[in-house]
Amino acid sequence: MSIQENRFQAIISHAKEYGFVFQSSEIYDGLSAVYDYGPFGSELKKNIRDYWWKSMTQLNGNIVGIDAAIFMHPTTWKASGHVDNFSDPMIDNRDSQKRYRVDHLIEGYTESLKETGQEAKAEDILGLMDSLIAKDDFAGLKKLIEDNKIICAVSGTANWTDIRQFNLMFSTQIGSLSEEADTIYLRPETAQGIFVNFLNVQKTARMKIPFGIAQTGKAFRNEIVARQFIFRMREFEQMEMQFFIRPGTQKEWYEYWKEARLKWHLSLGIPAEKYRYHNHVKLAHYADAALDIEYEFPIGFKEVEGIHSRTDFDLSQHQLYSKKKMQYFDAEIDEKTGKPFGNYIPYVIETSIGLDRMFLLILSHAYDEEILIKDDGSKDSRVVLHIPPVIAPIKLAVFPLTKKDGLPEVARAIMDECKPHFRCFYEEKDAIGKRYRRQDAIGTPFCVTVDHQTLEDQTVTIRFRDTMLQERIPVKEIKKIVLNSIC
Ligand code: ATP
Repeated sequence: MSIQENRFQAIISHAKEYGFVFQSSEIYDGLSAVYDYGPFGSELKKNIRDYWWKSMTQLNGNIVGIDAAIFMHPTTWKASGHVDNFSDPMIDNRDSQKRYRVDHLIEGYTESLKETGQEAKAEDILGLMDSLIAKDDFAGLKKLIEDNKIICAVSGTANWTDIRQFNLMFSTQIGSLSEEADTIYLRPETAQGIFVNFLNVQKTARMKIPFGIAQTGKAFRNEIVARQFIFRMREFEQMEMQFFIRPGTQKEWYEYWKEARLKWHLSLGIPAEKYRYHNHVKLAHYADAALDIEYEFPIGFKEVEGIHSRTDFDLSQHQLYSKKKMQYFDAEIDEKTGKPFGNYIPYVIETSIGLDRMFLLILSHAYDEEILIKDDGSKDSRVVLHIPPVIAPIKLAVFPLTKKDGLPEVARAIMDECKPHFRCFYEEKDAIGKRYRRQDAIGTPFCVTVDHQTLEDQTVTIRFRDTMLQERIPVKEIKKIVLNSIC
């Protein structure tokens, strides 16, 4: 295993051991590519969601939120193109019965080429694959797999079926009797809930173009290759924003959101060199431009967020299928004609980020195994999560040095003062060093210790997670210090 693969495995183990992420239904041997979030994971996930929501809605006067249902009228998915187009090219190995996404199978092979120093060959194959996928040339893709003698990791053979499209939507039935029941889908993206509510929102919130609608919520995809922990899940959460604009202004707004979204990532203190843009070669059926914001995960540079210029495709399709007007009346005067812009179907720029993938990004960035040199020269180590304080699950841990002499009472009073403002954690068991280590492992940025001196001069020791430095500060300063770091 490479150092990066080891690191990825260490992060997965840590996430489980410290109550961040558990395999779904673990006692029944789990459900593949479905995960549950534990006590600290659910806090971290909520904090990432809140950080996104605040930056999108509260800090942008022209973006409002909605919370649409997961179930939608089935025609929604015909109109959006998902019934016909939301599929990936797949190939099966006849010996192992294992199904692969074609791009993942080829990419896996090129990774192994790169590991043996055959970078140029790998790049050639990837270039050819991109151009064949862009042309939907399935025969060409199969030939590429055969020419390179790519084999199934399970059976070790190259006994492949033809390549076929496979729809990623989950379906279920609505209605009480199966004869009457209609097939409906679990939404594969949250965006359509925004599009079908476009006029409801515009009218009730009295929005003027340009404006945005934001939403967070679950999405479901029957992913075939789903073995990279929470990177690719079958049930996941998206944080999406659709920005409605005048036709013809899509290039400038695309550039605007491309930069604004990268700035959001950097605002969490993650180094810029860990990010890059990846322009799409093959555009989705609805897009006239698209790119991914990629992050360097331990499994390589991978998409965390998509920026898509979706034209007026979705609103036009919903107008067509629902026979309801999806137009907006723009009363502003067009300088070129001297007349109002009038009625039109707006164009849309979409920003779409996976909450679970952002969670994995934060863990990947934060996880550190540090070697410490003690004062006497001996070595020690610690595992620490350098989670940005604003999204850390616990902001402050409060420790009485001992369980007696009135110290717990003072520590409890500090808890009472701080807990309405941010998440705190109280602990009196074990030596202070052990308690620090446990907080390091869940990413708590501040610990304060109440000792006998506190009783005399109302000061405590504050210990900073990242530097491990300790300082004596007045009790009344604690709340301010923590609030300053998270506001
Ligand atoms: P990928 O190419 O990785 O399958 P995508 O291009 O299909 O992703 P989009 O449809 O643009 O993804 O979805 C927007 C975001 O939703 C992605 O950038 C990603 O963060 C997240 N996302 C998509 N699919 C999954 C999944 N199966 N598990 C977790 N997050 C996902």
